[in-house]
Amino acid sequence: MLKRLSGMSRSAINRTRSMLTGDKASGPVVDHVMPEPQVVAADAHPVTRKLIGRNALKVLDRLHENGHRACLVGGGVRDALVGLRPKDFDVATDASPEQVKALFRNSRIIGRRFRLVHVVYGREIIEVATFRAAHDAGAGGEVAASGRIVRDNVYGTIEEDAVRRDFSVNGLYWDVADGSVVDYVGGLDDIDAGVFRLIGDPLTRCEEDPVRVLRAVRLAAKLGFSIEQNTLKAMRQVSPELGKTAPARLFDEVLKLFQGGYAEKSFDAVREHDLLQHLFPALHRRLGRLDEAARNDLESMLRAALANTDRRVSQRKPITPAYLLAFMLWPEVEEEALRSVTAGEPVHDALAAAAERALSEQIGATSIPKRFSGPMKEIWHMQPRLERDRGARAISLMEDRRFRAAYDFLCLRATIDPLLKPVAKWWTEVQTIEDEDARLDSAAQRPTCAHVWGELPGGGKKKRRGGSRRRKRGPRAGGGPVSSSGADSSGQ
Ligand code: ATP
Ligand code: MG
Repeated sequence: MLKRLSGMSRSAINRTRSMLTGDKASGPVVDHVMPEPQVVAADAHPVTRKLIGRNALKVLDRLHENGHRACLVGGGVRDALVGLRPKDFDVATDASPEQVKALFRNSRIIGRRFRLVHVVYGREIIEVATFRAAHDAGAGGEVAASGRIVRDNVYGTIEEDAVRRDFSVNGLYWDVADGSVVDYVGGLDDIDAGVFRLIGDPLTRCEEDPVRVLRAVRLAAKLGFSIEQNTLKAMRQVSPELGKTAPARLFDEVLKLFQGGYAEKSFDAVREHDLLQHLFPALHRRLGRLDEAARNDLESMLRAALANTDRRVSQRKPITPAYLLAFMLWPEVEEEALRSVTAGEPVHDALAAAAERALSEQIGATSIPKRFSGPMKEIWHMQPRLERDRGARAISLMEDRRFRAAYDFLCLRATIDPLLKPVAKWWTEVQTIEDEDARLDSAAQRPTCAHVWGELPGGGKKKRRGGSRRRKRGPRAGGGPVSSSGADSSGQ
């Protein structure tokens, strides 16, 4: 899938080997020395105007026409170089935020930690950043006692801008003036070798911003790159600091990890690097508690949900974080709710209390905006109803605005829970029945999982199939069923 600079003959590259890359094994050693760049002419690399979005080009061209240096930088250049279609475009320039703002009516200055200009074209935002120097506390820079950067607004040259970026492959510039790619940090070599490497001293760079640990894991997984040894060592050392990162920032990273089209790979990488505890602490604890078979079951359900999300992203179908977050938290919610139900609490109350508890723990790790936690609760509350409602009550669930998502959720649960399989299968089938009476007939005799949550109060029978409210096969690994059918339709 990845075409590593295949179109680029190495001899065509003007190899003014960067001083930074002297000793690959120990990583770049020079922190603030500005090396000669490698400059690769437009006809010797695969980044073309065609690959760059129309709006990004408009911004780059206008800055250039007004006498400023303007470059595409970061993920856009990196992705184009490895043969992926870039998904968003970041621009770096020597114009100040005020100068940029003056050139674009459709723009606004944002941010405190980084002052940036957003140039807005409908739903697309082109982010324009002024070249910045390293963060040495001068005017505009601020470093906390922990080594963390809290403010970073010291403007500088393009060379200085390059070395304060995180990874070498993210520090490449495509210059709109002549279409060349400019490399101050050995990024081209690392792209060529498929290596992810922090620029400068890895430990310092990780301590400055522990979120770089997550960025490395996510981007290396996306690109299929390996992480360079010293970078990896620093990441391991600094990852406990992630626990102190602002929950809102971690939530942003969670979205990037699981909604960027590489969710399954990202999840594997997060597990491999033992980072799940910082993102979903309850899920991490549960996975650690389960025996191997139950753990495999739960992981396979989660991965099915993630693969489903990846499929939707690749098909450009809409996705919502609520669906995935609901999955990550469901095992805890379900277990606790079942415990309360067994102790005699009504299902709705038990679920509501379990949901509140799970959400309040989670927002200590990653915030969850209300616009997502609301739908998550709705999806959860529909699970027992989908499992046990009969007759007209069941049919009316299909009118619920969360039905699609809740049904898909049930289907994924059924992939690992045999007891839910017939239930999910019925829901899949009943949606294909057009005749209303036939639907009602079917709903009157539908298979249910009443033995899990108990029958509906007033729903007639108090008797529980199987003689017990709890399912007999012991605590559930993750949740329920389904299938075959619906797992891909997803009402996210
Ligand atoms: P993608 O957009 O594909 O997730 P990206 O590398 O473009 O990846 P962005 O968050 O869009 O990620 O950041 C754009 C660029 O800004 C990065 O490529 C990098 O050069 C720089 N950057 C982003 N976050 C950091 C950080 N925490 N520390 C240093 N540089 C960063
Ligand atoms: Mg980007």
